[in-house]
Amino acid sequence: MSDFLVFLAQALTRGGRFLDGLTPIPWPLLLAVLLPVYATGLNVMIWLLRGRVWPLACDYPSTTRGHPCRNVVPGEWHRCRHHRRATRRRTDGHVVQPNLRRWQTISKTGQIGVRRHVGRGFLRLTGRSSTLLYRRGFARPVGDVVRFLPTWWTETRDRWRAVRTRLALLRASHAGWRAVLWPQPPPVAGVAARLDKVVPAARASLYCTAVGLLLVGVSVPVPRSLAAYGNYLASAAFLGTWAVLKQGVWLAADNWLRLAAKDVFAWAWPFVLFSVIGGAVLSANG
Ligand SMILES: [Zn+2]
Repeated sequence: MSDFLVFLAQALTRGGRFLDGLTPIPWPLLLAVLLPVYATGLNVMIWLLRGRVWPLACDYPSTTRGHPCRNVVPGEWHRCRHHRRATRRRTDGHVVQPNLRRWQTISKTGQIGVRRHVGRGFLRLTGRSSTLLYRRGFARPVGDVVRFLPTWWTETRDRWRAVRTRLALLRASHAGWRAVLWPQPPPVAGVAARLDKVVPAARASLYCTAVGLLLVGVSVPVPRSLAAYGNYLASAAFLGTWAVLKQGVWLAADNWLRLAAKDVFAWAWPFVLFSVIGGAVLSANG
């Protein structure tokens, strides 16, 4: 793996100089564009995995057992076989609503409302906000994303109204302003348990990529010998991105951070050792 690290660092150096000569735009600026591209790709990948792959409870709110349905389904866009068809339940006459979204709740009589619980966001553990791919911490189905723009308008307007109401409350109340400014986060339910690890891991992988891109950007204008170090460190950061994705997002290991750090160390330690020795020899000779 250390060979791969050397190869990656050399490729980065060459690629950087090549692109720098090719385009009138400075190479660090091109790199700055890569981060949002990576973030978007990661976001879409996790959204699809959440919607279609990672198992979780069906969570249909209205059942005859006194708790939401616990049958396991593959992804947030699925309900179990009892709740994916519009049928009238014999026991209490409730008509199952197969299109009920995970951020909605339904009463026995069929009234649909917004659920008190929220799910998890892409990079935040309590996902209250409404984005293109998520609503209150749940993955929007594909059709919802397509029809999103008018919805987005109403949802954003509603959120701003809520902010204005909070500000008005803040002005009215002298005591308890903390509670108004930082209200208790709503409880989280109805999402795959692995998201506890996936969300911080996605965040960590974005940080690693940002650090890697920054290091590559910094190493373009500096002298070649220093640039090589910068590019090695950048490669280690990109390996960090990969290790965090593997351990935290894909495998969702309990101790993903430690495992990812171990992976990066296993890949990078021979290089670190040699570069330290090499640097010492160079400085002794120079
Ligand atoms: Zn169900």
